[in-house]
Amino acid sequence: MASFTGAIRTCAQSLLDFALPPRCAGCGTIVEHVHSFCPDCWKQVEFLGEGGCSCCGLPLEATEQTTCARCLATPPKIARSRAAVAYDDLSRGLAIRLKYGRKVAIARTMAHYMAPLVRTDDEPVLVPVPLHRTRLWARGFNQSALVARELSRRLKIANDPLLLRRIRRTPPLKGMSPVQRRRTVAGAFRIVDKDAVAGRTIVLVDDVLTTGSTAEACARVLKRAGAARVELVSWARVVKPSQLMR
Ligand SMILES: [Zn+2]
Ligand SMILES: [Zn+2]
Repeated sequence: MASFTGAIRTCAQSLLDFALPPRCAGCGTIVEHVHSFCPDCWKQVEFLGEGGCSCCGLPLEATEQTTCARCLATPPKIARSRAAVAYDDLSRGLAIRLKYGRKVAIARTMAHYMAPLVRTDDEPVLVPVPLHRTRLWARGFNQSALVARELSRRLKIANDPLLLRRIRRTPPLKGMSPVQRRRTVAGAFRIVDKDAVAGRTIVLVDDVLTTGSTAEACARVLKRAGAARVELVSWARVVKPSQLMR
């Protein structure tokens, strides 16, 4: 039955693809393949992928081997962070359109580039970084949950958008020191069902990763609830220009 509805969906999708020519995810010009970029945008995209520190994913210094000095000194609660691309005008444009524009198409494009970064061998559970309910009401949906749903479909792994709740609203963390950020997000998240977490690998899903403090706060409660391992996959990540290896 599932494969039958799957076949219908695939068929409907190909009809839709036929009716609407695929457009570049960056600028909207018509391209040959769905979920791709035109040559001009492709040149601009800074793919991060599997490079960098094996733990935090940030570019390594010449003297560092596989893990950066910061992660060696203080291992983060998130054992592995990966982002598809660096945060710039183009990836920012996609993140904004995910919030306000062609949501499902954009979520699919993001998932297309994020999926290869998710390890599926220990049957992880995808958990989108939650919004506080007042933000959810204002926007009507959680953009990270849309991406998590597409990833779950693509990778055939579990997705639990209700597992983690944001119980407190937090102000923007921009401009705060690491200690202030940590204090601001402490206690902002709660696990709804601890049994669903115990012993599992959880992969947090976020659209844009900036300081990582929010994701780290999510990881802290997940670990406290017994998660065996917490990883993170995001669409874009803010990387200092000096950290990019061009
Ligand atoms: Zn383009
Ligand atoms: Zn690191």
